[in-house]
This record gives sequence, C-alpha cells and structure tokens, in this order.
Amino acid sequence: MPTTTSQPADQPSIAIVGASITGPVLALLLHRAGFHQVRLYEASPAPTQQAGGIIGLDHPSLTTLADLGISQQEIIPFTSERVVTITVQDQREASRTEHLYPGRNTAWHLLNHTLLQRLPQHWLHLGQRVRAISPTEHGPAVLEFLDAEPSHADLVIFTDGRRSTGRRLLAPKRTLTYAGYIAWRGQGPYQPHIEHFTRIDPVGAAFNLSPLRQTSGHPATDWTLYLDMPEPDFHTLLGADPTVRTYLLPHQFTGQVRALVQGQANRLLKPAAAHLIAATPTWTAAPIVDLAPSTQAVYPIGAAHAILLGDALAPVRPHTASGANLGIAQAAGLAGVLSQHLHHGADLVAALHGWQQRHLPAVRAAQQLGPELGASLGLGTARGRILVTEQ
Ligand SMILES: Cc1cc2nc3c(=O)[nH]c(=O)nc-3n(C[C@H](O)[C@H](O)[C@H](O)COP(=O)(O)OP(=O)(O)OC[C@H]3O[C@@H](n4cnc5c(N)ncnc54)[C@H](O)[C@@H]3O)c2cc1C
Repeated sequence: MPTTTSQPADQPSIAIVGASITGPVLALLLHRAGFHQVRLYEASPAPTQQAGGIIGLDHPSLTTLADLGISQQEIIPFTSERVVTITVQDQREASRTEHLYPGRNTAWHLLNHTLLQRLPQHWLHLGQRVRAISPTEHGPAVLEFLDAEPSHADLVIFTDGRRSTGRRLLAPKRTLTYAGYIAWRGQGPYQPHIEHFTRIDPVGAAFNLSPLRQTSGHPATDWTLYLDMPEPDFHTLLGADPTVRTYLLPHQFTGQVRALVQGQANRLLKPAAAHLIAATPTWTAAPIVDLAPSTQAVYPIGAAHAILLGDALAPVRPHTASGANLGIAQAAGLAGVLSQHLHHGADLVAALHGWQQRHLPAVRAAQQLGPELGASLGLGTARGRILVTEQ
C-alpha cells in the first residue's frame, strides 16, 4: 500500500456530492471535527421539496444525530417503537403479531430539512449536478458540473444515491439490476387508529403504514405499497428502464398507471387501506434495484481520492431498513478516520483503507439480506406482463 505524507500541512479540501441524508450527516460530522474546506453539491435546486417517506433509524444512527445536536423531537414524527405485523388472506386478517423496533422512525423530509438547516453558511451548493471527475498531476481531483464552473478537491465523496454518478464514473461495470417490484409511496389522510408502524402482508405484496407529523404540522398517514411490476410492463407504462428511472415523481406517471396500481390495491387490501391510497393526492414511487456485492469504496484519482458512501456505494432493499443507517454509520466512521488524519497525522491512505475494510462487510450482508426478505414476501416473482394485460 502506498503511503502519503503523515503530517498534513493544510487541511484536505473535501467535496461531498449529494445532500439528502448521508452527505449532510458527513458534512456536519466533518464540521464538528474541525474541517473547514468542505463543499456539498446537490443536483436538485430544492431537495426538501422531494417527497420522502418513513425511514427507520437504529440506535447508533440516533446517537450520531444526537451528537450533532439533533433532538429526537425534531425528526421523530411518532415515538412508538412498536411494529405491528398483520398477514392478510382474501382481504381478511389472518394473523397479527407485534415486536419492538430497536430504534425510532423518522421521515425523509424531516431529517433532510433538519440536517440542511444546520450546515455552515456557504457549504451547500444547490442545483449543481456533478458529471465527471478527473485527476491532476500530484494535485486535487477536478470535478465537472453540468451547469457550473469546475471545482477542485483532495477528497471527493459521492453520496449521490442509488443511481450514483460517482459509481458510474469509478466503477462502470457495477450496474444496477431491477428486482421486479416497485415501492409506491404517499402521505394520505390521518388515520387515528394507526398508532404504530404497521406492516400488512397480503400474499405477493406488502403494505406499510405509519402515523406522520408533516412539516406543515398536520398529521397524516404515511404508506408504502410494494407491488410486482415485471420489467416489460415498466417500460411500457413508465417509458424508461427501472435502473435508470430509480425515483418516480408524480408527473412521471399517468392516471392510467395510478388506476392500475389502485386496482391491485383494491384486490389485495382491506377496503379501508385501499381507500387511504385512493385518497392520497400525490404518489411517488421507487423501483427496487440491486447491485452486485460491493468490494471497493475508495478509489485513487491521481494524488486525490474518491469515495462512495451510502446508497452510492450500494443501494439495499428497503425491507432491510438499513440504507440510511448504513450511510450514517459509514459517514461517522469516515469522519472519524479523517479526524485522525487531520489532528494526529494518521496516514490518509491507510486510514481510508481501514475504514473501507470495516464497513464493506455490513454493506454486503444487507445486500444479501434484501433479496431474501423480498422473496419471503413473495415480491419480484411475477413473470411476463401482469399490469398491462389487465387493461
Ligand atoms: C420505500 C423505502 C423505504 C426505506 N426505508 C428505510 C428504513 O426504514 N431505514 C433505512 O435505513 N433506510 C430506508 N430506506 C433507504 C433510504 O431511504 C436510503 O438508503 C437513503 O435515502 C440513502 O441516502 P443517501 O443520502 O445515501 O442517498 P439519496 O437519499 O439517494 O440521496 C442522493 C442525493 O444525491 C443527489 N444527487 C444525485 N446525483 C447527483 C449528482 N450527479 N450531483 C449532485 N447531486 C446528486 C440527489 O438529488 C439526492 O439528493 C428506504 C428506502 C425506500 C425507497
């Protein structure tokens, strides 16, 4: 392993690409560790406007956020740790069990908003989409943007999500595969009887519900409906490849698609649950994707380094409830080793490789678990064309 200067005269300049969850958490941890040459680039002009749903945060993630001064009151829309699981057959409840989730649920918009508010002034650059990275001789890497002047950084950390530009540039052979089903999501009218995270599992689908406090203050009920959609149907109905359009905003699907999904919901769920979906004005969707097991997170770019973190390193299936948790744990670990480099002269290359070795096994375990959980719910098994032929 090559070595670098062990006593850095100056701080490394750091560019973080993507300001959803992993990126802002890392930025705040770096700020706390004394780094001041940090810029955070986000492609979206206003990330908090993106819809998002309930995300389970485990205790280590909550502790990392608490260490950043983020109180649970700010980010936890309901305090119950209870998870209710209901199996459904022929639209009737067949069994009901309960267990405790070792953590609490947040909502993407609450967490994203809370994190971005705390960033030091001038660190966040919205509406800047990174499109390329290249080395310079003995110096920092050059970052190129779609609509902005290039920038330089000694460390470029890609936290740019499931369809990461960083992953495409650094590991072009690591392509996504579609798992055969979609998470449809929305926030519908408040249902007072839904007090806990509730999983309703009809055969061949999964429906998750939870109470939600919105930024507007109005209570709502957050839902996610997992339904099979074979790849040919996705192409026909949504006009794209599911590994390219990995996040669907409301304007990207038609009323016909909504009607087809609602028809499935009406057949599989109890009428009250199907009605909640029908009464939700705005839906979003995420096709579920997999990636081959991750073996590398740190890439040399000349004398600089690029690093993949969070969903950019490996998107994992939502049933594992671990994507955001992995990203936060990786960010905390990375901020720790960079702090050792900054304050104690730790060799940067050795520190980064040590960090990589510690975090890759957890990523691979979650990548393996996701398909097992999906299969246990009977998801992703439909073949041929199911939705289109129902017209
Ligand atoms: C239905 C569902 C349920 C889930 N439930 C859980 C759960 O219970 N627990 C859990 O831990 N995880 C859960 N997850 C996963 C979790 O949402 C993700 O793991 C998490 O959002 C990943 O965060 P990230 O910051 O790494 O990436 P993302 O949230 O994907 O953010 C990437 C950011 O990068 C920006 N970007 C993209 N390309 C560029 C570019 N070229 N230049 C600049 N910016 C760019 C994007 O605009 C975006 O803001 C769930 C996911 C889904 C779909």
